Amino acid sequence: MNVTVVGAGYVGLVTAACLAELGQRVVCVDHDQARVVLLQAGGVPIYEPGLDELVQRNQQAGRLRFTTSMALGVEHAEVLFIAVGTPPQEDGSADLQHVLAVARQVGRLLTHDLVVVNKSTVPVGTGEAVQRVIDEALRVRGCQGLACAVVSNPEFLKEGAAIEDFMRPDRIVIGVPPGPAGARARECLSQLYAPFNRHHERTVWMDVPSAELTKYAANAMLATRISFMNEMALLADRVGADIDAVRRGIGADQRIGHSFLYAGTGYGGSCFPKDTRALMHTAAAHGSPMRVVSAVEAVNRMQKRHLVGMVTQLMGEDLSGRRLAVWGLSFKPNTNDMREAPSRVVIQALLARGATVLAHDPVAGSEARRVLTEDMAAQPGLLQRLHLEESPEAVLLDADALLVLTEWKCFHSPDFARLRDLMREPLILDGRNLYDPALLQALGIAYLGIGRRNAL
Ligand code: NAD
Repeated sequence: MNVTVVGAGYVGLVTAACLAELGQRVVCVDHDQARVVLLQAGGVPIYEPGLDELVQRNQQAGRLRFTTSMALGVEHAEVLFIAVGTPPQEDGSADLQHVLAVARQVGRLLTHDLVVVNKSTVPVGTGEAVQRVIDEALRVRGCQGLACAVVSNPEFLKEGAAIEDFMRPDRIVIGVPPGPAGARARECLSQLYAPFNRHHERTVWMDVPSAELTKYAANAMLATRISFMNEMALLADRVGADIDAVRRGIGADQRIGHSFLYAGTGYGGSCFPKDTRALMHTAAAHGSPMRVVSAVEAVNRMQKRHLVGMVTQLMGEDLSGRRLAVWGLSFKPNTNDMREAPSRVVIQALLARGATVLAHDPVAGSEARRVLTEDMAAQPGLLQRLHLEESPEAVLLDADALLVLTEWKCFHSPDFARLRDLMREPLILDGRNLYDPALLQALGIAYLGIGRRNAL
C-alpha cells in the first residue's frame, strides 16, 4: 500500500518506519527542513531504542522516503496519516493549528480518493473539523467528487518502547465515520493493519468521537493511578507505612494489577500533562467538569516539587554553598524527551535557592541544556551554577545529596560504597524508589524515598 505519514516526530517517525518494515511503501513528510535533511542522510533526530536501524534498513530497501513536500506526500498516498504535534495552549486546550494546516494542504492538493487517518491526540470533534476543512478546499477547487474519509486512530505507544508498542499493540482503536466512505476506509485500514491481527483481532472499531475520547480517557486513567499512589505515599510517610509494600499488596489484586502504581516525583512527558489539561478543557466547555482529573493534575503539580521540599526541610530554604547531584533528566528512561520532565521543576527550584547543581543523564544531556536554557532565559545567572556532566560519578564529588529523578537502568545498582566515599554527605533522595532503605542504612548512607517511612 502507498502510505504517507505527515510528521516525523516520536509518533510519525515510528509509524512510518514500522509500516515500511511491514512492507508498505512509505513517504514521511515533515515541514522541518533540518529534520528531513538529517533523516535523508540516515540520521535520526530523536533517541528511541532500535529506531535508527529500522529507519536505515527501510530507507536502504527503498520503502521509506523523507521529504518536506506535501505535494509529493499527497500524490503518493492511498492512506495519509496525520501525526503532527498538538501542543497545549495557554488555557490548556490542544492547539490544532498543525493538524488543520495538514488538512488544508490535503484539500488543496488532492487529485484522487484518499483515507486520512488522524493519529495525533485531538479533542472530540477534530475529526469532523478536519473533514470539513478538506471538503471545503475540495469544493472550492470543484473536486467534490473525490472521496476522502477522515478516520481516527489514536496512538498508544510509549516513548522508550515505541517500536515494540507499535509492532505488538494491546489494541488498535479505530473510529470510522458513518456512510459508504467510512465503510471503504474501514476496509482499507483492515488491510493495512492485517499483520497486527494475525493471532487475534486487536482492532476495536468504533465511531470517530468515541475513538478521540478513548485516547484521553486512557491517559487520564493512567495519570490517575500515578497521582493516586503519590498521594497515598504522602500518607504512608505520615503513618509510618512503606508505599512499596502497599504497591505490591494492592497490585497483586487482579482487579488492580501492577502497572502504573509507582510513587515518584510526578509524571511528565508530552502526553499525560497536556492530555489531562486538554480533557479538562473539553469537559468544562461541555459543562461537565472533571473533578477527578483536575485533582490528579493538582497532585502532580505538587509532586514535582516534593523532593525540593525534602531538600529544604533538611538544609533550610537557603541552599547557597550546597552542591546537589542529580541522576536522570529525561521524563522517563530510554528517551531524551524533556517535555514537562520533573527535573526541570526540581533543578530550577534548587538553583533559585542558591544551590550548585551537578546533573547527569545517559542520553538527555544536550536536550536538557537546551530546554533548561529556555526555562531560565529570564534568569541566565542561575545557569552558571548548573553543570551537566558526562558520567554519573562526576556529579557525586563533594555532593551534599544525590537526587534520583529518572529510573534509567544504569542507576539501579550503583557502587554504593564508592558513592558514599565520593559524596560530602552520603544522602540519597530517591525520587523513583529504586533502592532498598535497609541496605543503604547498613552502608551508612542516609536515604529518603517517596513514601518509604520518611521521618522528616
Ligand atoms: P513531535 O513534536 O515529536 O513531532 C511532530 C512533528 O510534526 C514535528 O517533527 C513537526 O516538525 C511536524 N509537523 C508539525 N506540523 C507539520 C506540518 N504542517 N507539516 C509537516 N510536518 C509538521 O510530536 P509527537 O510526540 O510525535 O506527537 C505527535 C502527536 O501524537 C501529538 O498529538 C501527541 O499528543 C500524540 N502522541 C504522542 C505520543 C508520544 O509518546 N510522543 C504518544 C501517543 C500520541
